[in-house]
Amino acid sequence: MDFIKRYTTREGIRMSVAVTTDTVETARVRHDLWPVATAALGRTMTGAILLASDFKNHENVSLRLDGDGPLGVVHVDAFADNTVRGYVDHPHTDVPLVRAGKLNVGAAVGHNGEVKVTRFTQLTQDYTSASPIQSGEVAEDLAYYLFTSEQVPSTISLGVLVDTDMKTIVAGGFIVQAMPDATDEALAQVEQNISDLGPITEYLKDHPNAEGLVERILFGMDVNEVFESPVEFKCTCSRDRFAEILMTLNKADQKAILEDATTELVCHYCNEKYHFDSQELEAIFKEASQVS
Ligand SMILES: [Zn+2]
Repeated sequence: MDFIKRYTTREGIRMSVAVTTDTVETARVRHDLWPVATAALGRTMTGAILLASDFKNHENVSLRLDGDGPLGVVHVDAFADNTVRGYVDHPHTDVPLVRAGKLNVGAAVGHNGEVKVTRFTQLTQDYTSASPIQSGEVAEDLAYYLFTSEQVPSTISLGVLVDTDMKTIVAGGFIVQAMPDATDEALAQVEQNISDLGPITEYLKDHPNAEGLVERILFGMDVNEVFESPVEFKCTCSRDRFAEILMTLNKADQKAILEDATTELVCHYCNEKYHFDSQELEAIFKEASQVS
């Protein structure tokens, strides 16, 4: 089962690790994603989960990666309960591999644009900030965002491994951040450990539940696990929400939509389809006219 775990150390380093294989596979199946789209959306969903868990005040995080590449915009919402949803504009995108077995996420996302991050809760006003996309490889773009917009130096590593039959073999990642009281010694050690680890995708392939990852990255430190939660793909859409949207249609649109026997509405985020027949629609429109 997918999870996120968060750790702190006495040396002033904090780290979150997430395994998101089932979450990414759910997104792939729902949206019929091709491999590079699975990798791009999977990395972004994992990154959003890591960013959302980053703060203790139960924030939701929306990420929009708009790099002007063939994939279009990558849209992801991660919620404070560690559920996540997302989609890409063009799920059937294919770009040449970097080399055999290496998907070119940067080319699919593109690198002429920005990453936009919105933090929001039920109670506070939305906070949106943006930074230029660096490589389109996602992890680097999010780290650059955190450093320039939120002044938090971070190392982020995100990986999605896709099989030849397009299924997700493994997905996950981690974020490491230095607290203001972190020692230079600890920082240098962690940097060395991360560099020794090699590509996260390779590591997850051999350790599908990220076994031993935290021990490797935070080697030699006094580590404290502070948080653990399951992670899953989950959308906030519902039939009632779509009915509410239908209630806002003007008379002309109502008339047009009633000409069809059934109307299909599709949620962008999860690709769930909702069907309303004309009798249901008439009841909805009638209720709308009574409310207004
Ligand atoms: Zn939905």
